[in-house]
Amino acid sequence: MKIAVIGGGPAGLMAAEAAISRSARVDVYDAMPSVGRKFLLAGKGGLNLTHSEPAEKFLARYGARRAEIQQLLNGFGPDVLREWARGLGVETFVGTSGRIFPIDLKSAPLLRKWLRRLRHSGVAIHVRHRWCGWDENGALRFATPQGDRLVSADAVILTLGGGSWPQLGSNGAWVQLLAERGVSIKPLRPANCGFDVNWSQHLRTRFAGHPVKPVVVSGVTLEGNEFRQQGELVVTEAGIEGSVIYALSAWLRDEITAKGLGHILLDLAPDRALARIINDLSRPRGSRSMASHLKRCVGIEGVKACLLREFVPKKEFFDPVLLGASIKALPIQLLATRPMEEAISTAGGVVFETLDARLMIGALPGVFCAGEMLDWEAPTGGYLLTACFASGHTAGAGAVAWLQSRRNL
Ligand SMILES: Cc1cc2nc3c(=O)[nH]c(=O)nc-3n(C[C@H](O)[C@H](O)[C@H](O)COP(=O)(O)OP(=O)(O)OC[C@H]3O[C@@H](n4cnc5c(N)ncnc54)[C@H](O)[C@@H]3O)c2cc1C
Repeated sequence: MKIAVIGGGPAGLMAAEAAISRSARVDVYDAMPSVGRKFLLAGKGGLNLTHSEPAEKFLARYGARRAEIQQLLNGFGPDVLREWARGLGVETFVGTSGRIFPIDLKSAPLLRKWLRRLRHSGVAIHVRHRWCGWDENGALRFATPQGDRLVSADAVILTLGGGSWPQLGSNGAWVQLLAERGVSIKPLRPANCGFDVNWSQHLRTRFAGHPVKPVVVSGVTLEGNEFRQQGELVVTEAGIEGSVIYALSAWLRDEITAKGLGHILLDLAPDRALARIINDLSRPRGSRSMASHLKRCVGIEGVKACLLREFVPKKEFFDPVLLGASIKALPIQLLATRPMEEAISTAGGVVFETLDARLMIGALPGVFCAGEMLDWEAPTGGYLLTACFASGHTAGAGAVAWLQSRRNL
């Protein structure tokens, strides 16, 4: 049984491991000079492998694809993932937010140990092999520095990633290759992404890169449900990004798609009630500037004060009731999502309805898919990697089971 895994990210490497442990011969091909580049980048800010919250809450993170991801997690869920990491000699811990990280927070040691184990078990890894589709006889076509190479395999597992951070290898070029073969694919869109805001030149030059915290971001989804989340956002040259924005980004992206603009409200003083703010702002200001009055009464200065200046009309700025209302609910219009290349992940991809339970594409027998290239999305928090590992495991085991079932015919 010869299985070709194309794409050496977490989903592909997990598929390779699942397949070789079931006695297949496995070759991994990747376009880049080394594998796991996005996985390595994920470790830069602390590798969030998975999350410790109860299963119901965990599954709800996958929204409309909850049922499909649940099937995958049944075979390789968060607890199994932690055990798997332990098996590599990488202990994990639960952070205060419930997120789960390797003790050293890094991905490089884990990846190094994993690759060593894979190679030791017989997985052959071929880098600088960019998959370009199939030739007329069904062989896999790769572009390599030595020229084109044709490879035949009994089954193929595609784990080509989404379309974010293309410089790390996943550029979404596979969409066309599979669409030409009749595979049903939802367009790739940015997920866990930032948004454009029409800042003034003053705010841009003075405060790009500044965090706004604490802050509560609220709004209403297209379905009419209210969302409200405390966290941190960052003002950028182009607009806003940061963990709280990423968490809400699917709703905001969908609102922009449907209505042309997205809308959020910022509570710039989440720890203070409106009545107290109005009361404090109503104290005599004397000869103090409005800036120092705001700072002394409400603790608002720097980027938060600049945001108020930017969006509160001048005549309202000096009215404690109106200014207080803006401090608690400052409306910001989002013009567009930032480009997909900058996003943490992508939504869209190969739709589950085109796949069987083993993640084989119905229209292409013997071709399996896993990882971010499937049509699901989730917020940050370890949910992305968990689903990539789980789907890789399902596809790897599924490809072997499919080959065995054909042998027994
Ligand atoms: C900055 C950042 C931080 C992140 N942090 C976290 C985190 O802490 N926790 C979390 O859960 N998730 C995190 N993620 C998301 C996570 O890294 C991805 O969801 C995950 O790597 C996707 O895995 P994958 O195997 O599906 O695809 P990828 O990791 O993208 O791997 C796909 C592979 O396919 C190869 N490839 C693509 N096209 C071809 C081709 N034509 N031929 C050959 N090879 C090809 C690519 O070179 C690549 O190696 C982060 C992402 C980013 C960008």
